[in-house]
Amino acid sequence: MSSGGRIIIVGGGPAGSGLAIRLARLGFAVSLLEERRFPRHKLCGEFISPECARHFAQLGVLDRIEEAGGTRLRQTVFYSPRGRSFAVPSAWFGGHAWGLSRARLDELLLDEARRAGAEVLVETRAIGLIEEHGRVVGLVARNAAGTHRLPAALIVDATGRRRALARKFEKRKAGRHAPSLVAFKTHLHGARPSTETCEIYLYHSGYGGLSPIEDGSCNICFIVAAHEVRACGGDPEALLRRVVCANGRAAETLRDARAVLPWSSVSIERFGPAELAPTPNLLAVGDAAAFIDPFTGSGMLLALESGEALAQAIQARWRGAEAWDELKREYARRHRARFGHRLRWCAAFRRLAFAPPQAVEAAAMLLATSERTLRRAAQATRARRAL
Ligand SMILES: Cc1cc2nc3c(=O)[nH]c(=O)nc-3n(C[C@H](O)[C@H](O)[C@H](O)COP(=O)(O)OP(=O)(O)OC[C@H]3O[C@@H](n4cnc5c(N)ncnc54)[C@H](O)[C@@H]3O)c2cc1C
Repeated sequence: MSSGGRIIIVGGGPAGSGLAIRLARLGFAVSLLEERRFPRHKLCGEFISPECARHFAQLGVLDRIEEAGGTRLRQTVFYSPRGRSFAVPSAWFGGHAWGLSRARLDELLLDEARRAGAEVLVETRAIGLIEEHGRVVGLVARNAAGTHRLPAALIVDATGRRRALARKFEKRKAGRHAPSLVAFKTHLHGARPSTETCEIYLYHSGYGGLSPIEDGSCNICFIVAAHEVRACGGDPEALLRRVVCANGRAAETLRDARAVLPWSSVSIERFGPAELAPTPNLLAVGDAAAFIDPFTGSGMLLALESGEALAQAIQARWRGAEAWDELKREYARRHRARFGHRLRWCAAFRRLAFAPPQAVEAAAMLLATSERTLRRAAQATRARRAL
């Protein structure tokens, strides 16, 4: 790998792979670095929003995703701690959603990046950036063969919420403070959600989702306050039974459930937008650019959409290092236009999700009784167009 005109994307999640496919098809020389070997499990609710279908079709993977064995999801039903419920039909977002493991989805997208002509280097970790005269000109990567210095015209941080490259330029380092929220995930056998339904359970210190995926399994993914984690000695099973199952509907659907995958956990240190272009020639995409609240089930959508926005900006403005300012402005404009509105609304809904129980119940009552309000709330978490 030696081309000075090469674009290196770090991170083989939906944002990185989606962007690699688009750029390779546009004729750019692209390398995609991923530290893990695929397939790999990934902490996520594994609910794929219906609008992803447009991206999958453009990326050339829609048929393979339809055939990957996932479950079609027709609705998401939210249950308040006291058992009030309201349903959001997937059709409001343009069709059916999917429940499919990230192990399958991400591998499929990474394979397509290879097919599209991107150089895909797995089990290769980006460990640092090479800077010259205040701009990034390459990165240092490590794999089983050793440590490599890779020159690049542009580098894209698609490493998810970790922002492995971009965070170096943050003024206030994230992660210095103890995280207040922790997320857990596993796959279950024996859980009983309603057919073709993703169920979301609200409880006093967070929320969790249960979604049927492939092979008769269900994904359970939940967020709890760090103090609850400490109180349960960090044991995910204890948290599931004591905190999540305080919600009566969760207690019912999860009664006979047992984990068939080791639990994974992550701390959540921030939501919302981050710096898109932290230093010349370094851009961020997907969660590394903005993290949308998991209750929207749209993080993967945002990852695919931001990849599309960045590919469009690069195609329109990238003419080499002297075009950096133009590219940066163009990407910021496209990103803000697509996501600014929904990220602001999600911040408001997040405050409500973690509000005192009376406020949660009052909001659940309103959403359960007014379809118009529910539709508007659902619409606010998505692109600005009528549902
Ligand atoms: C609790 C929870 C539940 C969620 N549920 C849903 C849901 O149901 N539906 C939904 O759409 N979204 C959900 N999301 C959000 C979704 O998981 C993310 O939005 C999505 O994964 C973002 O994709 P990405 O490609 O930006 O990053 P990621 O998917 O995080 O991919 C980043 C990749 O970069 C690799 N990487 C990291 N550092 C390096 C490095 N230094 N070198 C090389 N490779 C590296 C990682 O191995 C990883 O493969 C959830 C998130 C959380 C926290």
